[in-house]
Amino acid sequence: MDVKTHVKTTNGMIQPSSFRVIAGPCTVESYDQFVASATAVKAAGFEYVRGGAFKPRTSPYSFQGLGEEGLKILSEVSGELGLKVVTEVMDPYDIEMIMEHAQILQVGARNMQNFSLLKRIGAAIAGTDHGVVLKRGLAASVEEWILAAEYITAAGGDNVVLCERGIRTFETSTRFTLDLSAVIVAKRLTDLPVIVDPSHAAGRRDLVIPLSKASVAAEADGLMVESHHDPQEALCDAEQALPVEALMGLKDVLQPFASAMGREVI
Ligand code: PEP
Ligand code: MN
Repeated sequence: MDVKTHVKTTNGMIQPSSFRVIAGPCTVESYDQFVASATAVKAAGFEYVRGGAFKPRTSPYSFQGLGEEGLKILSEVSGELGLKVVTEVMDPYDIEMIMEHAQILQVGARNMQNFSLLKRIGAAIAGTDHGVVLKRGLAASVEEWILAAEYITAAGGDNVVLCERGIRTFETSTRFTLDLSAVIVAKRLTDLPVIVDPSHAAGRRDLVIPLSKASVAAEADGLMVESHHDPQEALCDAEQALPVEALMGLKDVLQPFASAMGREVI
């Protein structure tokens, strides 16, 4: 594999002595929903909130996200709370608009090998403070995942973070299978930071905290978890969203594991 990337950090998002937690709802549903969910993220002691305005839904009949209205809610609420925003980009046409509302652009699993999107994002973020979270494709090898990241860096985008979010296997007790060995392998093959999304991997909230602990031990640089102020009512991925009480305890639950790895949960 021809790996050329030598990336610095993600402008403070990822640091070697920290374990970064990004939390928030799957999707921005309304101002009231997002402000309630983001307030819990802030109260839990985290600095980065997630929320999709453009959603890659399996069915065209499912809620597709609020689009530009969702972006405005993201930037308004994050500005009020002093949080940074991670949100998904699906269409090259939307990159500039999304960059006005979010610091970190997420490329979803289904777009990991959308090479024209990756190149356009790399060029757009070159020389800016923006970063990218690149999710691993549902059926992508570690090599394909790293080379997808190289599309962004080769186009000039420095701040790329890999995110393991589970792969498709024969197992049916979880939505996907979290591949923690891929986290370790990717960190050995590149100097890109690697975070873990246990929420999409498991698809069920009862596994999110145990998998988060395991991710710390597997040398991950952070986590992206879904949380919602009222999970039963979430429009998207309701079964995997952490409720507020679990989010509030997350930092304390993870810190002993992070301390063992020489990191501080932030
Ligand atoms: C998400 O983060 O909401 C999402 C759709 O993730 P993935 O691309 O990993 O399925
Ligand atoms: Mn989701």
